[in-house]
Amino acid sequence: MTNLSVRFWNRVRKLTTTTGTLLSEVTDTALDTVQLDDSNNQQNTEVIIVQQIDSVESVDKYKICGHCSKRLIQAQGIIVKCDHCSQRMRASLCPTKVSASVVVRIENSDRYLFITNEVLHQLLGLYDLDTVETNDLTEKLLLLDDVTIHYINSKVTSIEAKNSCVYLKLTNICFCSVTFVLKNF
Ligand SMILES: [Zn+2]
Repeated sequence: MTNLSVRFWNRVRKLTTTTGTLLSEVTDTALDTVQLDDSNNQQNTEVIIVQQIDSVESVDKYKICGHCSKRLIQAQGIIVKCDHCSQRMRASLCPTKVSASVVVRIENSDRYLFITNEVLHQLLGLYDLDTVETNDLTEKLLLLDDVTIHYINSKVTSIEAKNSCVYLKLTNICFCSVTFVLKNF
């Protein structure tokens, strides 16, 4: 790597790339002999179909840092400081997110699943993050019927329900409307 620049930031000297940085390929025989073992990284998506979500452990509404996208621990006030990257910024520049932890019962055992903001949007439509009430989302999750859940480990990657689109009243746009129409024919 050539044409790098040295920057002095926050009392730390850092080596950074520039628009003129050139990368060149090197042959490293020692690296070539390293065996890649990604068997631990292979994660299978599991699918379950349940009548309903049995309980909701929590629905959290929080802000993420506008700089590093990590969750802000303290987001009160007009100016916030991120504990991860130490940047200070206007709170209005930090996006709001919602996530949910739910429990479904499979073969007499409870399975705890985590649903991200993006998956909740797919399921419930594009609600307004700044005004949506976590109690409303909890209620909507609990009232879903015939729920199909795809997940990896405990993280839900997609979720559909027979009556997902009943909640179109929350918003004017709903991504699952197409699926809903198809299912009714
Ligand atoms: Zn940050």
